[in-house]
Amino acid sequence: MNKPVEKQSVEPREITHFIGGQPARGASGRFGDVYNPALGAIAGRVPLATETEVAAAVAAARAAFPTWAATPPIRRARVMFKFKELIERDVDVLAEIITAEHGKVLSDARGEVIRGLEVVEFACGIPQLLKGEYTEQIGTGIDSYSLRQALGVCAGITPFNFPAMVPMWMFPVALACGNSFVLKPSERDPSASLHLARLLQEAGLPDGVFNVVHGDKTAVDALLAHPDIAAVSFVGSTPIAEYVYRTGTATGKRVQALGGAKNHLVVMPDADLDQAVDALTGAAYGSAGERCMAISVGAADGPVADALVAKLAERARELIVTTGTDEKAEMGPLVTRQHLEKVTAYVARGEREGAKLVVDGRSLKVAGYETGFFLGGCLFDHVTPEMTIYKEEIFGPVLSIVRVPDFDTAVDLVNRHEYGNGVSLFTRDGDCAREFSTRVQIGMVGINVPIPVPMAFHSFGGWKRSLFGDHYVYGPEGVRFYTHLKTVTSRWPTGIRKGAEFVMPTMK
Ligand code: NAD
Repeated sequence: MNKPVEKQSVEPREITHFIGGQPARGASGRFGDVYNPALGAIAGRVPLATETEVAAAVAAARAAFPTWAATPPIRRARVMFKFKELIERDVDVLAEIITAEHGKVLSDARGEVIRGLEVVEFACGIPQLLKGEYTEQIGTGIDSYSLRQALGVCAGITPFNFPAMVPMWMFPVALACGNSFVLKPSERDPSASLHLARLLQEAGLPDGVFNVVHGDKTAVDALLAHPDIAAVSFVGSTPIAEYVYRTGTATGKRVQALGGAKNHLVVMPDADLDQAVDALTGAAYGSAGERCMAISVGAADGPVADALVAKLAERARELIVTTGTDEKAEMGPLVTRQHLEKVTAYVARGEREGAKLVVDGRSLKVAGYETGFFLGGCLFDHVTPEMTIYKEEIFGPVLSIVRVPDFDTAVDLVNRHEYGNGVSLFTRDGDCAREFSTRVQIGMVGINVPIPVPMAFHSFGGWKRSLFGDHYVYGPEGVRFYTHLKTVTSRWPTGIRKGAEFVMPTMK
């Protein structure tokens, strides 16, 4: 796995849609550039779909839906079992594709694939998950049962930062429930989703049940307006999440829209400092901070702050930042030059607003990759809640330390932030940990765990402006999102007719 993937291709590849089981070339004449971020060079051209191309993908999914929905759950599960085997076979292939377009280090890309695979493993249990409930004799001679049925055509709209895992948060559960699916992946790293589409086909998924259509706002708007789309799962930044939620629900669709984050890690004075430093370093700088569960704020309680900042500064300066295909790399480049510029602008703004820039990664040069989108780890101390770098999601390798005088102030700080995705507390005090998890207004809480991403058989989601809608993704919440509940009440009367009844029936 040491070969430098990015040195292999010279000509930009033309990326295709995947509609009705076939690759489909873009017909719009509009294309987006897909970069190799380590080289800073264009590696591919992604078609940006028109409404007509989106409609073709929806039509394929709609045509495939009735037969797939009527397929017994055990047979749908068998497709998932086979898909799971194929992902295991191709973990390294998928990781290479992700690293080539996203830039994250290969070991992290493999980790992303495995976290997606876990949702496939969950979906393999769909016959059990769809079993429903039955009450015999709910009234005299009357039985009642509840079941869950597929919605129809579901759409997934996904961000750049997990090009394999986030789509796999959605479609394995949607498909296992009997839905067909149209995925609109990020146009910045679209190739992983195409490989997943081919693996689903190899696993025996009928053509048209899973489709990939690439694009930008035009494609997203076409999905949101399409009358045959029953539900939309979105993951991305908060402004777009809110837009997708409002637009989709206004046309009667079921929508779950996961947005941005500003995750805090609170370090109590009794915490194991080295463990807290390890946790903060990995969670702030892993994947160059381009994770919705990255820790971007360290809240240091009282006396622990000086020692914490000193140790973190040492670690930030020592980070091994280079191409993600180098097995030694701890952090790769950012995804695009535009994103690099946005993140460095935040660093400049933090300085202007009076935060103390303890480590400045902006002068980093990576030998052999001088044109790549690299930024070294940055560390700010004395950040305050009024500063832009505290309020806004930076989505880069920039860690802000806020000094807090006590536990109550730390909880208050976390709760006042507009985002509510993840949070973590480092302490050796169980009482403090219990109080924290009870009071904190956040969807996913870690106690001595830096990135508390729930496993596939739980569900993932944030509070406040980190999630619009009522359902978390994957796990039991995913099954609820991708199905309608139906309750059947039946009796088989023999003989006696009582005539019409004009009062509310009550069970006697
Ligand atoms: P983004 O919001 O720019 O893009 C997400 C998707 O929306 C993409 O498919 C994109 O094509 C589409 N899109 C972009 N602009 C649009 C517009 N104006 N109208 C309609 N659709 C549009 O997000 P990103 O930069 O790709 O990803 C990073 C963001 O995603 C961060 O904010 C991160 O926190 C968030 N994220 C959240 C979670 C979570 O679980 N809460 C997980 C991963 C990423």
